[in-house]
Amino acid sequence: MKISWKTILLWSLPALIVGFFLWQGSFVTASESIGSNTASTRMTYGRFLEYLETGRVQSVDLYEGGRTAIVQAVDPELENRVQRLRVDLPASSPDLIARLRDKNISIDSHPMRNDGLIWGFLGNLIFPFLLIAGLFFLFRRSNNIPGGPGQAMNFGKSKARFQMEAKTGITFDDVAGIDEAKEELQEVVTFLKQPEKFTAVGAKIPKGVLLVGPPGTGKTLLAKAIAGEAGVPFFSISGSEFVEMFVGVGASRVRDLFKKAKENAPCLIFIDEIDAVGRQRGAGIGGGNDEREQTLNQLLTEMDGFEGNTGIIIIAATNRPDVLDSALMRPGRFDRQVMVDAPDFKGRLEILEVHARNKKLDGEVSIEAIARRTPGFSGADLANLLNEAAILTARRRKEAITILEIDDAVDRVIAGMEGTPLVDSKSKRLIAYHEVGHAIIGTILKDHDPVQKVTLIPRGQAQGLTWFTPNEEQGLTTKSQLMARISGALGGRAAEEEIFGYDEVTTGAGGDLQQVTEMARQMVTRFGMSDLGPLSLESPNSEVFLGGGLMNRSEYSEKVATRIDDQVRSIVEHCHKLARQIIRENREVIDRVVDLLIDKETINGEEFRQIVSEYTHVPEKEQFVPQL
Ligand code: ADP
Ligand code: MG
Ligand code: ZN
Repeated sequence: MKISWKTILLWSLPALIVGFFLWQGSFVTASESIGSNTASTRMTYGRFLEYLETGRVQSVDLYEGGRTAIVQAVDPELENRVQRLRVDLPASSPDLIARLRDKNISIDSHPMRNDGLIWGFLGNLIFPFLLIAGLFFLFRRSNNIPGGPGQAMNFGKSKARFQMEAKTGITFDDVAGIDEAKEELQEVVTFLKQPEKFTAVGAKIPKGVLLVGPPGTGKTLLAKAIAGEAGVPFFSISGSEFVEMFVGVGASRVRDLFKKAKENAPCLIFIDEIDAVGRQRGAGIGGGNDEREQTLNQLLTEMDGFEGNTGIIIIAATNRPDVLDSALMRPGRFDRQVMVDAPDFKGRLEILEVHARNKKLDGEVSIEAIARRTPGFSGADLANLLNEAAILTARRRKEAITILEIDDAVDRVIAGMEGTPLVDSKSKRLIAYHEVGHAIIGTILKDHDPVQKVTLIPRGQAQGLTWFTPNEEQGLTTKSQLMARISGALGGRAAEEEIFGYDEVTTGAGGDLQQVTEMARQMVTRFGMSDLGPLSLESPNSEVFLGGGLMNRSEYSEKVATRIDDQVRSIVEHCHKLARQIIRENREVIDRVVDLLIDKETINGEEFRQIVSEYTHVPEKEQFVPQL
């Protein structure tokens, strides 16, 4: 919670000022006590007018700014005794004063007066009241929750931050490339649609399904599709929204969510990022988080609390199943896990087809070619890619998306926005040598992925780029492939050193070196590809802040740590030497390609290989051709 002293002052200042005046009693609007003037008998306004006409009125005293009058009148029926009567005057009686004057009746107006004790007392009360009210508003403001009033003052009845969609409008047709997951979840649709089928034979309907997979692979989409297929409402909330600043709010949200869901059963509850609440209890730095644990406990209680056949199915999504509390996975909770993997070639093809449905593609564009160009893309990346291509097409005022827009969009999704190329200068020349350095090593080493293109058109952070066509779907990577990749990544720096000398090397290789170190380190600590032998010394995800990561961080001794460093260094040094040697041996062709590159700005892989083969042997590389 962020409350600065400035805001507190700002808010309480008006309250302070108002309170001060109240206290002094100079700010009160109160009427003079009329009762003290002994006029307890009331008279109607009509009667008053009648008295006025018949000349019985002697004097009129106005009170309360003219709203009340004490009238002194003679009553003939009571032996002309003088009476004091109270009259409530209507709000607008403009000519009354004139008429009174006409008849020569004495008029007096009495100012408003602070009525002493009681108002002073109230004033004293109002001051703290306003102060509290000011603070209340402050809390409400500091706790701005989209679509709901502040939570600070009403923990109990939190307006939950979950969304409900009566109809998601998404079907299994909109989800592509993850057929196994779809198949497994088809059953869930049937649970929701015809629970009696299962309960009739005594089967217990599962309550929870955990979708596990990297971001953007379609977990949310899949959950929505299940609700859409079953035609049930879709309740969704993100785990991070459960975790609140006040202990107890998360838990009360869970309660609300389940309450609403029960009212709307059959329905589907989707909890995104469940790892935000479902992390192992008592894990992480600084011990447990009370709030998170309470929320998790409440979630578990709610899940246990409803019977399997209430028609509510909970689907949760995470990309970190390893950090989840084991209590979540127990039978009767999220006992089913469905993997939602990044799509392979065929999956990408299907996803692209889904997203190309509403796009105008040029006849020459083959979806297959796009799928081949996009290994490692998630479903969300592919959707984004086609959208970027469509935007580019519109900007270029074309009728339909052509392969040019697709190519540009792929580059943009991977490497960022295109910049303007440098004019010919020393630094452009240096960048050209750096990139050609990568490309030549990638071409000459047999185990390296083939060059797709070399370009000097900047993109994102990079001043120049060398693209390789990854030989995907092979699943496994060999040691010599890793060594080739390290050499290739060092090719840029090696070229700078060979051509411009050690003093002229630039910061441009920073990113390359980071990759190099990471790859070499993994070879040593994870894949057993060094003299240290086949040992796994580090786990892939050693993020400290996540559940329990701190303790198994160092699985080796100080001595081993030194040896790891030595091994990493020796791998990198070996590759660096190799890269420099290749650059030295191919200086002639490098100079020629650099000149061409500065002129043309982009050279594609075919042309590059063609030129290099005029000077030296270029090994054939197996190109992966995806099978349909
Ligand atoms: P996640 O929840 O796994 O992070 P989302 O379901 O939010 O991913 O996916 C984001 C978007 O990406 C979806 O709305 C959809 O447009 C697209 N997308 C992702 N995966 C797929 C898929 N398998 N099929 C079709 N579209 C997909
Ligand atoms: Mg999602
Ligand atoms: Zn580089």
